[in-house]
Amino acid sequence: MNKETQQRLRAFIDLDGTLYHGSTMIEGANELIATLNQLNVPYLFVTNNSSRTPEAVAKFLNSIGIDARDDHVLTSAQAAASYIQKHYTKQKVFVIGEEGLQQALSDSGANWTDCVEEAWTTDIGVVVQGIDRQLSYAKLEAASAAILRGAAFVLTNPDLMLPSDKGISPGAGTIGAALQAATGVDPVVIGKPSHIIMNAALERLGCSAEEAIVIGDNMLTDMKAGAQVGCRTALVYTGVTTPNNFASYKEKSGVIPDLVFHNLQEIRQWIIEEVSATI
Ligand SMILES: [Mg+2]
Repeated sequence: MNKETQQRLRAFIDLDGTLYHGSTMIEGANELIATLNQLNVPYLFVTNNSSRTPEAVAKFLNSIGIDARDDHVLTSAQAAASYIQKHYTKQKVFVIGEEGLQQALSDSGANWTDCVEEAWTTDIGVVVQGIDRQLSYAKLEAASAAILRGAAFVLTNPDLMLPSDKGISPGAGTIGAALQAATGVDPVVIGKPSHIIMNAALERLGCSAEEAIVIGDNMLTDMKAGAQVGCRTALVYTGVTTPNNFASYKEKSGVIPDLVFHNLQEIRQWIIEEVSATI
């Protein structure tokens, strides 16, 4: 490989099911991130979770033993906020969501409200919706009415089910499905498998898709998102996908990962070899 064609590796890494389960670090996650830091491989943690702020995500990762900074985090809430700023500048935004989404909107300079009364009395240009564990009928009603009056409908992430300490809980996508059913309007989906969050990730690192590898446990979200924008994809059998269900996920997602690893140690080794091959 000559100098002109050399590519510098970048990584987009999923969190839940890839680096941890619940509040337990998956073996090798800390070493994988330490290696990326040592080798100066630029990377982002790309997460569909819109409820936590990047600061909270980094703090959580630190608490389970993984080195992380908030500027290494890209949430679907941040990608949604920048999408709204780009396409609906200056429009009033009605939010169904938690702190992560609200802070991302504030950081991007959006004019937003989560006040139901205000949603009825002002001209709402965009409804943005993520997970909201304080969801009420009044919020659904105001959001539906705004969408029916012509507001854009933006969904942070399509995940229907959310692993929780109660087992499986309804995710942001479940609330989105209610709004979709009530309005007949399909949302603009921001989170994985959408290309929108991946383009936000590429933009943040200032790299081309060919330079980046998407690492994750989920064929339907991580692998599909990477494939949509032309990144290389690396599946790891640490979470949703296992050797036993791989074939069925391959069929459902229509995606074949470029690389498949059994654990994070194998990915770490691959990265070391990949980087040394291009030096
Ligand atoms: Mg995952």
